[in-house]
Amino acid sequence: MPAAKGYAALNAQLPLAPFDFNRREPGATELVVEILYCGVCHSDLHSARNEWKNAVYPMVPGHEIVGRVTSVGAEVTRFKVGDIAAVGVIVDSCRKCANCRAGDEHYCEETAVETYNTIDRVDGTVTKGGYSNNYVIDQRYVHYVPENLNLAAVAPLLCAGITTYSPLRHWKIGPGKKVGIVGLGGLGHMALKFAHSFGAHVVQFTSSPSKKDDAIRLGANEVVVSTDADAMKAHANSFDLILDTVSAPHSLDPYTALLKLKRDAVMVLVGLPESFPVVDVTNLINRHSSIAGCMLGGMPETQEMLDYCGKHNITADIELIPIQKINEAYERMLRQDVKYRFVIDMSSLA
Ligand SMILES: [Zn+2]
Ligand SMILES: [Zn+2]
Repeated sequence: MPAAKGYAALNAQLPLAPFDFNRREPGATELVVEILYCGVCHSDLHSARNEWKNAVYPMVPGHEIVGRVTSVGAEVTRFKVGDIAAVGVIVDSCRKCANCRAGDEHYCEETAVETYNTIDRVDGTVTKGGYSNNYVIDQRYVHYVPENLNLAAVAPLLCAGITTYSPLRHWKIGPGKKVGIVGLGGLGHMALKFAHSFGAHVVQFTSSPSKKDDAIRLGANEVVVSTDADAMKAHANSFDLILDTVSAPHSLDPYTALLKLKRDAVMVLVGLPESFPVVDVTNLINRHSSIAGCMLGGMPETQEMLDYCGKHNITADIELIPIQKINEAYERMLRQDVKYRFVIDMSSLA
């Protein structure tokens, strides 16, 4: 079995610490990826600290992986040794339900297997993620990486990227559409880049006036400070879509009041808060509008997103850290002191 080393949370309170373990023996259609970079997603922190009440320890977080293929099984056709490859949040699924067959593996009817903290369909162990030096995975769940992009800055595309790309595509955002982005963090900054790249008129909502210049730099046409009631009111009934990336509990009503009248405008939620807001449904009823939620994207769409990023030279804005700084990075994430995603340089593990 391939030996692995990484950083793990041993319980909800302790800082992450070095941890040795074994990956399962790769099968005929599987490959081993040597991890070069792994993004640090807010979900990692939620999970490591058991804030979603489903943590299994020891937990090795990490689901934004870019690496190099170091071995391939006898029946692997899509990759060869030496290829650069990416692994995201979904690493396996039943492969036969309607959603899996449609390429929506993330909505597998038998529950998709995630990169860490879920039961591996092959050997029944708990999956361990990308804060480590390797990963064993079936080729079906691995993505090609455009070679013109900075590999470290590609890593966050595997969660923050696809999570924001997918809804903007689903609701057909493009020229002539007015899009609002709520929150300017790891998800929000990718949403901004994609919405701008797709040709929409993009308004960034933020509670921090200090983020204005950065939002403009990242592609916003306008920036609205969400606590400024007059500025909010000036945008009433004008948005085709508002993408809410904030995972802290907050009211949706100030935003649903900004959706267009009778245009099937939608507020889409991609951040998962610990507690849920009460919604003023009159904002929806009076507008023929809706609140929707979605997560990630399937394997084909994730590849489509990576290819799009290669073609349009889009990556995340990152701060590269050695793995020894992961606990400090978590504290800084909680203070929103990161522009806009930490990525672990896995060579620091050696
Ligand atoms: Zn994530
Ligand atoms: Zn399935």
